Order: sequence, then structure tokens, then C-alpha cells
Amino acid sequence: MRNTFSFKDRKEILQNLENETYDVLIIGGGITGAGIALDAVSRGMKTALIEKGDFASGTSSKSTKLIHGGLRYLKHFDFWLVYEVGSERAIVHKLAPHLVVPKKMILPIIEGGTYGTWLTSVGLKIYDLLAHVSEEDKRKMLTKNETLELEPLLLSDALKGAGYYAEYRTDDARLTLEVIKTAAYFGASILNYSEVKEFIYENNKVNGVRVFDTISEKTIEIKAKYIVNAAGPWVDSLREKDDISTEKQLQLTKGIHIVVDHEKLPLKNAIYFDAPDGRMLFAIPRENKTYIGTTDTKYDESLENIKVSMPDVLYLLHSANHMFYNIQLSLNDIEATWAGLRPLILQQGKSASEISRKDEIFVSKSGLISIAGGKLTGYRKMAERVVDLLSDNFRKQHRQKFKSIQTHKIPLTKNKFKNNEEVEKYIDTIFFKLKYLENGLLEAKRLVHTFGKQTDEILKIACINNEELTIEEILKAEIQYSIENEMVIKPEDFVGRRTSLLLFNIEKLKEQKELILNEFSNYFSWNEEQFEEEKKKLDQLIYDTSNFY
Ligand code: FAD
Repeated sequence: MRNTFSFKDRKEILQNLENETYDVLIIGGGITGAGIALDAVSRGMKTALIEKGDFASGTSSKSTKLIHGGLRYLKHFDFWLVYEVGSERAIVHKLAPHLVVPKKMILPIIEGGTYGTWLTSVGLKIYDLLAHVSEEDKRKMLTKNETLELEPLLLSDALKGAGYYAEYRTDDARLTLEVIKTAAYFGASILNYSEVKEFIYENNKVNGVRVFDTISEKTIEIKAKYIVNAAGPWVDSLREKDDISTEKQLQLTKGIHIVVDHEKLPLKNAIYFDAPDGRMLFAIPRENKTYIGTTDTKYDESLENIKVSMPDVLYLLHSANHMFYNIQLSLNDIEATWAGLRPLILQQGKSASEISRKDEIFVSKSGLISIAGGKLTGYRKMAERVVDLLSDNFRKQHRQKFKSIQTHKIPLTKNKFKNNEEVEKYIDTIFFKLKYLENGLLEAKRLVHTFGKQTDEILKIACINNEELTIEEILKAEIQYSIENEMVIKPEDFVGRRTSLLLFNIEKLKEQKELILNEFSNYFSWNEEQFEEEKKKLDQLIYDTSNFY
């Protein structure tokens, strides 16, 4: 077992990747690849994972950030999916209680809306049963007055009541990263910023990849008995390098979100509400912001630079203003946006929202195993299916036996919380240490929901010469911690995925930009030219996040 996951380990990881023959090599460091890596290595397989950008830089940092039971799939009679993702919520919450946080959701029943009173009541009841919802979290049906008491901002004229039920909120990128880190501690060789360019074959069977490491600018070959393509929206681009001719293909759909200040849309609860066109949207309070999403439109443009378009933004604004009609949000209220692509399996004749979210595994003639579809929430089960297949292959083709699945009992941080109550108590202790800060409680919550008990290590770094820490000292310590323990290489990794400064605190990011760049510059010994280049990239990222086209 290794103890660190740092930039400093890169040279050693590269050497291992070149010298070893792995049981399984996974392409893609999103939640799907991360889940497979942890499952495989914890069953005893020699495992490697390669990611072309930063971990979770694809769809796995662009979701609605819910670990949810998929209530909307009931509408499509996808009972199996509701059962599976619903059961998974409870398991993932147990593995990382600070990252998968219970969140009550209101589903308003509106005159002429998607779900009437009967369908909401019966739907949520089935949902409770299928998703194994605990007694205290079982759905309640609310009258109009009870609903307005809980959420006075709702459109009151057409409101008939609401369903009140439980979901879980997460930080998708951090969840992915904690799974990746855990796989690395188990001994998997994992590298970001290295792209699989080609497959290598022997006797028409794929047994390796050629990889370009963009940091050392070196090309290496990695050998493995089995190769898994978990490249999300890029799954088909990789299959095209192998053989895609006989198989189903992907249908990508785009979803965007917008972020406004909580004061502009001061919701007390998360709401799952009707858009005027009959689709359902989420409005979710988080830190001191509220975010709204998502859209679902077929997509066949560039995979590298997904733009948030003005029509999509206007659609979300219009829908939110319809439901919260005393609040008229405008384009100027939008502080940040993000866009992501769902890697779904093409189903001819179905609209974007109708396409099933179920995952599928494809095995090509050369033996390349590809997986697509699915949800963040179901990552562990998707991984189980792939690793069961690998296990089976090892047994039949190599007479080698591996353990059965372990991931349901592997906590996703080194020092895990027992339950939600312990998370809340820990937030109180951190708040006690930071209570002199203007937003001490908010800062304590942010740190704990981001880093869990690793917050102690961050405060230890920050405290070396100081008792009363400033926000700047904490920020510097977070940067140092994530470079030394979370394979951060670029400022965008830190602001966009190790923390959510970019999406949920872009003002602080703008204020602290120079400090962040200076910290990275000191750590990585950038010259002036490198500093200017990274500054330009960070400015562009901030611009792209706060503008639409
Ligand atoms: P990705 O996260 O895209 O990972 C694939 C990785 O492969 C990328 O990081 C990419 O850089 C890498 N890669 C590609 N090519 C190569 C190569 N040649 N070499 C090396 N690496 C390569 N699910 C939920 O459960 N809850 C939600 O609330 C939710 N909301 C969503 C909202 C939106 C708008 C969208 C788009 C999706 C949502 N989902 C949600 C679904 C969920 O986010 C995705 O199913 C999941 O993140 C997909 O993960 P992935 O690992 O398959 O793909």
C-alpha cells in the first residue's frame, strides 16, 4: 500500500508503468474508470489507470452533483435502474458521509404539471420501496400551506401541495478523486495528463497502449492482459482506433447549469420542479449560492471545448422565473455556468431525455472492453460488472482467481466519518478553531464537505507560525496539501476540481488569483514565461465559466 499521491511520485509511477505488465489497464479517470480501478486493485489485480487531462476533467465534474435514486426514471418505467441507483445511494453515503450529504428535496405539485398528486404520492412510495429509503427519510405528502411554509418562494397560485423526500448532494469531482486516491493507496499505478494514443496488439489481441505523457513530454508503452475503455464521451473515439464496426454507438447529450448568489434565489430547500415545457429541473442551494439545471440536448460538436449556449441559459432562467415568480432572475445575476456531456447508448428514434441511462459493456474482437452509459450514482455497480467480467476471463483464460467484490466496505478517505452526526460534530470543532473569521461557519462547512478529516492536515500546514489563521493562509495550505497529496499539477485542477472555487466562489477566485498563481509558481519553479502562460489559462477559464455564447 502506498501512502502518498503526489506530483513528486510521478517519475516512479511512470517507471512502474513502463516496466510492469498489468492485469488490467483502465483508460479514463472519471468516476467510471476510478470505480473500476478501485474494484480491480482491491480484488488483487495489478491495476493501472491513465487519464489524458486531470482526474474528473470530463463529465465527472459537470453533473448535477446529486447521488440520487433517479425518480425521473420511474416515468420511463425503468424500475431496475431506480432500484440499483437507489440502493447505491445509501452505500456511497456510508463510504464518504462528508461528501455524500443527505438533502431533503421538495417536488411541488402544480396544476397541469408533470406529476399530479396521485402520481407523486404513488411514485415516491415506489421510490421509497425500490431505493430502500430509511424510515425517517420516507416521503411525506405536503398540503399547499405546508409546502409554502417550507418554501415560500414557490409559485403559489397553481400550487396544490408537494412531495417531500430525501436525496443526497455530492461534489462529483471530489468523489472521483477520493476513489482514485483510494485505488492508489491500494497499489494501483495512476497517472493524469497522459493520453492513450494507440493500442498495441499481439496475435490480433489488444495487449497494450502507447501513451503520451504531456508533463514529461515522453511516449511510453504500457502492457496489460486486459484493457478497459472507460473514456466517457470519448469511448467511441477510442473504439474507432480499435474496431467499432459491429457494435452500438454512443449518443452524447449536453446538460448545462447556472449559478446565482443565494440572496438572488434564497431557497431553503432543494426543489425538483416543472419547467413550462414539461421537463423537470433542479434548483439546489449550496454554500452561499443556488444552482439550477439541467438541460438535455443531443450533441455532436467538439468534445474538448463544450460551450454554454445563450438559448440554454435563457431556458433555465425562464423556467426558474416561472416557478419562483416573485424572483425575476436576469442574465446579470449569473455568476458561473458549466456544461457536460452524457455518454449515453444510442437508441434510434428517442429524444435526448427519453434515452435510457443504463450502462452497457461492449467487448470488441480484439478483446477491448468498453463501458458507457450509467450514472455517477451507480459507479460502484458499473465497476462491479466490469471487474466480474475480468475475473471470469482470468479464471477461464489464465486459471487465475481473484477475490469477490470489496468496494462496499472500503471507506473513501483515510480517516472516515462514522455517520452524518459525526460530520456535523467535526464541522463544529473546525468552526471553533475558525470562529474569529467573518464567515467562520461557512468556511468550516466548506472545508469539511470538501476535504473531510483531511481538514486537520490542512490546518496543521497553515498553523506553523500562527494561531489565528487568515483566509489566505488557509488557501495556501489547501494548495500545498492538494499538490502533495492529490496529484494537483495546474491551478485549474485546484480551483475547478480539488475545490469548487471556480463554480461556487468565483469572486474569491478572482480576488485570490495572484496568490494562487504565486503559490503554484513557487512550488513548481515556473519561469516568467510559464507564469504568464498559466495566468492566461486561468483568466480564460474564469471568463469561460462566467460567460455564454
Ligand atoms: P468522464 O467523467 O467523462 O470520464 C472519462 C475520462 O476519460 C475523461 O476524464 C477523459 O479526459 C478521459 N479520456 C478520454 N480519452 C482518453 C484517452 N485517449 N486517454 C486517456 N484518458 C482519456 N449522474 C448522477 O448520478 N447524478 C447526477 O446528478 C448527474 N447529473 C448529470 C448532469 C449532467 C449535465 C450530465 C452531463 C451528467 C450527469 N450525470 C449524473 C451522469 C454522470 O455525470 C456521468 O454518468 C459520469 O460522470 C460519467 O463518468 P465517466 O467516467 O464515464 O466519464
